[in-house]
Amino acid sequence: MRENLSRRNFLGKSALTGAGLAAAGSTAGLQPDASANPAQGTESPGRPGTILALGAHYDDCPFGIPGTLLEAVQKNYRVVILNIIGDYSNWAPVSDRVEELRNNSIRLAEERGMEMRFLNYASMKFANEDQTQSEIAEVVAEVQPDIAFMLWRRDRHPDHEVASLLCEAALRQPAAILGRSGPRPPRRIYYYDNGPGHTVEFTPDTYLDISEHWTAAMEWLGENMAFVRKQEYDPGNPDGALLSKEKLARYRGSACGVGYAEALLSYNPYPTRIL
Ligand SMILES: [Zn+2]
Repeated sequence: MRENLSRRNFLGKSALTGAGLAAAGSTAGLQPDASANPAQGTESPGRPGTILALGAHYDDCPFGIPGTLLEAVQKNYRVVILNIIGDYSNWAPVSDRVEELRNNSIRLAEERGMEMRFLNYASMKFANEDQTQSEIAEVVAEVQPDIAFMLWRRDRHPDHEVASLLCEAALRQPAAILGRSGPRPPRRIYYYDNGPGHTVEFTPDTYLDISEHWTAAMEWLGENMAFVRKQEYDPGNPDGALLSKEKLARYRGSACGVGYAEALLSYNPYPTRIL
């Protein structure tokens, strides 16, 4: 999300999402399947792998799927976050603190056991084209994710829509994009949304109970927002983005019968366990 302070503020009423893997009513955890074909995978419980979470802006993953990623770390997954936009010089709140924003975001991720990377694009200055696909595909080839998360394709922010298309291409066809054999797509891919103020026509099919990680998720997002506002994170005075995330997480939680949840849409149908 990133957008701007006012957006997050008035979106105190909207916001976004999360994810959770509890497909079809079960509460399956993060489980990479054993097949390279995402449509034919089978679950392999207890075998942590690697997760690649993709966003346009520095805060897309901390807002969209913080609970999911914290759960992944707890379960010993390697978690890598890639943000396409690393140049924030055309975004007024941090235009003179671009390096600081990146370093702060990276530090906050590292403190939570995750690696965060940035490409060097600026908002509205990238498109679904070969060079950018290749840069993302190189990360896919290097990280070799078992599971990947990317933004939903229908969104009112053009950055999010372009990012979704780029990530879909890079995740699904890394070998073709890079022109060499070897790079493989992740076994599972899930879309996450970016909140009701942005995301359009998103119907999740996979839910993750993030209640256990709720406080930590808010703290992670809150510290990101506090940096932009040049304030200290104060849990007693939540930023509009946090209020928005809380409403969404509660809504998703209500949908699947837990306190707080994040909801995803699977790229392919994936089998889950009922018995
Ligand atoms: Zn964003």
